[in-house]
Amino acid sequence: MCIFCKIIAGEIPSKKAYEDNDMLAFYDINPQAPVHILVIPKEHIPSVDAIDSQNSAIVAKIFETIPEIAKAAGITNGYRVISNCGDDACQTVKHLHFHILGGKPLSETMA
Ligand code: AMP
Ligand code: ZN
Repeated sequence: MCIFCKIIAGEIPSKKAYEDNDMLAFYDINPQAPVHILVIPKEHIPSVDAIDSQNSAIVAKIFETIPEIAKAAGITNGYRVISNCGDDACQTVKHLHFHILGGKPLSETMA
C-alpha cells in the first residue's frame, strides 16, 4: 500500500483538513507555505498522467471542493494549486495529490 493509501486507511496519522467518502485533505508534513494542504482521492490513482474518463469524476469533485478547503483553512487572499507529475516534476509520492499553498504572497516563478 502506498503512503497516502496508508494515511487514508488510518495506518499513518495525519492532520485532516477535510474528508468525505471519496477524498481526503490533510496538512503537509513539510509545509512550504503557512498553509500547505494535500488533497487526494481515496482511490489510488498514481498521478495526473493516469487521469482518464473512467476516474476523472473524482478529480472534478476535488476541484469543486478545493475552494471550501482553502476557505476553511483560513486562506483569504489567494492560493496556488500544484500537482507534481513524474520524475522531472519531482513527484515523490505516487498517489495523485494536489498541493494547496497559501497564507503568504507566493513566488512569482513556478519552475
Ligand atoms: P510531491 O513531492 O509533489 O510528490 O509531494 C509529496 C508531499 O507529501 C511532500 O510535500 C511531502 O512533504 C508530503 N508528505 C510525505 N509524507 C507525508 C505524511 N506522512 N504526511 C503529510 N505529508 C506528507
Ligand atoms: Zn495510494
